[in-house]
Amino acid sequence: MAETLPAIFFGHGNPMNALMDNGYTKGWRRIGEQTPTPKAILAISAHWYVPGTRVTISTAPKTIHDFGGFPQELYEVQYPAPGDPRLARRVQELLAPLSVALDDDWGLDHGTWSILRHVYPQADVPVVQLSIDRMRPASFHYEIGQRLADLREEGILIAGSGNLVHNLGAYAWGRPAEPYDWAMRFESAAKERILAGDDKSLIHYETLGPDAGLAIPTPDHYLPLLYVIGARRPGDSITFPVEGIEGGSISMLAAQLG
Ligand code: ZN
Repeated sequence: MAETLPAIFFGHGNPMNALMDNGYTKGWRRIGEQTPTPKAILAISAHWYVPGTRVTISTAPKTIHDFGGFPQELYEVQYPAPGDPRLARRVQELLAPLSVALDDDWGLDHGTWSILRHVYPQADVPVVQLSIDRMRPASFHYEIGQRLADLREEGILIAGSGNLVHNLGAYAWGRPAEPYDWAMRFESAAKERILAGDDKSLIHYETLGPDAGLAIPTPDHYLPLLYVIGARRPGDSITFPVEGIEGGSISMLAAQLG
C-alpha cells in the first residue's frame, strides 16, 4: 500500500517567487525533497475562484499566466506537468452527488505553478486543479476537504495554495516592510487553532475578532486552508515548514498535516 501523503497549505504570495531563490522557495524545495513522491497532486488554488466545483481533465494542462504588469520573464515560465484524468474522475466520485464539472479550459494557474516549480522542479508529478466554488460558504470548502481525505492514502498530495493573511491594499509592493501587528496577531491565532485542531474557529474565522477582517478582506486566499485542514487524519503531525510575512500584510505560512 502506498504511503499516506500529507496535506499541505502553501502561502504563495508574489508571483515573482516563481523565479526567486529565497527563504520561501528554499522551504518549498525542501518539502519536495522530504515528502514521498506523490502519484499525483490535487491542487486547490486561490486563483480558480469561480461559480461551481470543477476539476481539470486535460492530460497536458496549460500554464496560465493569470496576472498583469510583471516582467516578461515571468510570462515565459512554463510548468509542463501532465494532468491526470483518472484522478479528476476519482474526485468526481468522492464528491458525488455534488456535481463536479470536468473542465478542459483551465490549466495550472500561478497559485499552483509558482510553488510547484520549486517543490517538483522536474514537473514530473501529474497535477489536477480543483476549483473553489465562490458561491458557497466556508463550511462547504472544509467538507470537500473531508471528503477528499481518502486520496492521501491513494498516493495523492492535497495542496492548497493561498495566503493565510492576504491584504493587498496594505501590501508594500517590492519594498521591505515590517509586518502589521494585526497580521502577526491573526497569523499566530490561526496557527494556535491549527495546532489545537480547532477547525470550527478556522471555518468561522470572522469570529476570531477584528484582525480577521483585515487579514481576510476577501475569502479567496484563505479558503484553500480549509480544504487542507478538512483532509486531516487522526495522528497527523502538524508543522509549519515555511514562515514569514511579506510586504507587511501577506503571510507566507505553510502548514503541513502528516
Ligand atoms: Zn495569489
